[in-house]
Amino acid sequence: KLCFTLNLMLDKLENEIVTSSTDPLTHLCNRRFFEKKLDNFQLSYEYKSQIFSILILDIDFFKSVNDRFGHICGDDVLRCFAEKMRTCCRRDDIVARLGGEEFAILLPMPAPGAAILAERVRATIENTKMLPDGSVVTCSIGVAQYAPGEKMEEFLDRADQALYRAKREGRNRVCISEKDIPKKLE
Ligand code: GH3
Ligand code: MG
Ligand code: MG
Repeated sequence: KLCFTLNLMLDKLENEIVTSSTDPLTHLCNRRFFEKKLDNFQLSYEYKSQIFSILILDIDFFKSVNDRFGHICGDDVLRCFAEKMRTCCRRDDIVARLGGEEFAILLPMPAPGAAILAERVRATIENTKMLPDGSVVTCSIGVAQYAPGEKMEEFLDRADQALYRAKREGRNRVCISEKDIPKKLE
């Protein structure tokens, strides 16, 4: 009887842990869990010199998906987008929905490798017919590699700025933070 009660409590606890770290729509990590992982990555950088990068992804013109096909279809697109992102990643990569139609991926690699993965995600999305009329959605992606001593908000801000450059330069593209673009030899 006691054992049974304990088992029920454990189940409940386990459920609570999963729900508090998961986005209910896409089943990706939520922002809360993502921020915890970000701190862990920073610690691994400091203590083990484990280099890491972030991708911030935003679906292009998503408002018009809702306007043309309705909110339920919009939700289907978000779920499909999440699944496609996951198939491009390894098990240990952190794939999260930050909110709305904005996503992020944490990767244990420097910016050039992260940009290759970003390009793979971008191409996969562009080649998947997600809309009811057989058309596709596209996404823009910003990439940044964590720099020694950098504050988390500075790091995220660099990735955000790269994302906004990708939007400005015409969307459906990957941009790397200026700071991470290798300088040409003079
Ligand atoms: P841009 O290319 O500049 O990113 O344009 P956008 O239309 O994607 O950007 P904007 O921020 O104007 O619109 C985002 C839209 O995402 C607005 C909102 O209705 C929609 N949205 C946010 N969360 C959800 C959601 O959970 N489900 C659905 N269906 N839509 C959502
Ligand atoms: Mg958008
Ligand atoms: Mg957005």
